Amino acid sequence: MPLPALTGLDPDALAEWLKAENEPSFRAAQILEWVWKKKAASFDAMSNLPAALRGKLAESFRLSALEHTYTQGSADTTRKFLFRLHDGRYVESVLIPANPALYGEKSDRRTLCVSSQVGCAYGCKFCASGLDGFTRNLDASEIVSQVIAAEQISGERVDNLVFMGMGEPLANLNHLLAAIALITGEKTLQLGARHLTISTSGLVPQIRELATHPQQIRLAISLHGATDEVRQQIMPVNKKWPVAELFDALDFWNSKKGQKLTLEYILIDGVNDSPEQATILARHARRTQAKVNLIPYNTVEGLDWKRPSDARCRAFREILKTAGVTANLRLEKGGDIDAACGQLRLKQETKEGIIGSP
Ligand code: SAH
Ligand code: SF4
Repeated sequence: MPLPALTGLDPDALAEWLKAENEPSFRAAQILEWVWKKKAASFDAMSNLPAALRGKLAESFRLSALEHTYTQGSADTTRKFLFRLHDGRYVESVLIPANPALYGEKSDRRTLCVSSQVGCAYGCKFCASGLDGFTRNLDASEIVSQVIAAEQISGERVDNLVFMGMGEPLANLNHLLAAIALITGEKTLQLGARHLTISTSGLVPQIRELATHPQQIRLAISLHGATDEVRQQIMPVNKKWPVAELFDALDFWNSKKGQKLTLEYILIDGVNDSPEQATILARHARRTQAKVNLIPYNTVEGLDWKRPSDARCRAFREILKTAGVTANLRLEKGGDIDAACGQLRLKQETKEGIIGSP
């Protein structure tokens, strides 16, 4: 096993380690500042620590859990980072400049989309992440290091985090919650819980568990079908937790949380884009007071699906709007750089022969 990463260590554990090493307790604040505020690139950069302590740190820990290997995209557009993990596997994160027209936010805002697993066990039929099955969970430091690395590489502060990268975050709930504690912690990354959105394919027991979590984290549901008949064609998870059970869990979520839910809906030509689906989706959205994000399908190599025409996408949105539902039709972002999550890693691991061609 590799050394533990310092980015996975909470402040209490760091204090204990310093004590065991007979180091004064005030060093904790210095180290935390280097890791979480200054985002030091090496132990040697921690210039106010004695050389002996830097040496002990380097013998006991890695600084980051990831190695940045590749960036796709450019500074003023969506950028995608490929990271190698200690076992030679890859994950990716996508840095998205906010679109003021779409979100009504200041344009200097940055959203980072992070991965929670290598691969995914849920096998949605439209998704590159699930194409080669599930490999393993990321631990807390591997999740958190994506944020620190993205800030180091881009030189920009990440304002919003979405757990919409590779993997099913709610299938890795313990590590996810440990990562969230570090991301929101006062002594660590200090990002507000309201700036965090977890996206799930609809794991009902975990949605209920997370609903009782004290922090105001946001939730997005990958719905992609308004009825069982349509949804289970493309999302096998629907057989386990059908639409009715999912929406009961979302009612429970709403009874516990104040933030609006988001329903994500990829529009796939001839599969889930009928007016009937729009009408039923509108009913679900009204019941849960959710807003809807419509995402024209992004082409994935090796998969047959197509995006509907713009006119058909707009017609779908109109049905929702007429029914009084807030519905964004997402402008294309990053389609040219394989931003549909999982695609860059799939290419890299295939090239290296770690996994077979899809
Ligand atoms: N497993 C979680 C989070 C990761 S998927 C979930 O399913 O919600 C993140 C988002 O990317 C989901 O909304 C998913 O449906 C979307 N996505 C996956 N493949 C896509 C594609 N080819 N085109 C557009 N969106 C896609
Ligand atoms: Fe997994 Fe989400 Fe992709 Fe489905 S959409 S295969 S749950 S990552």
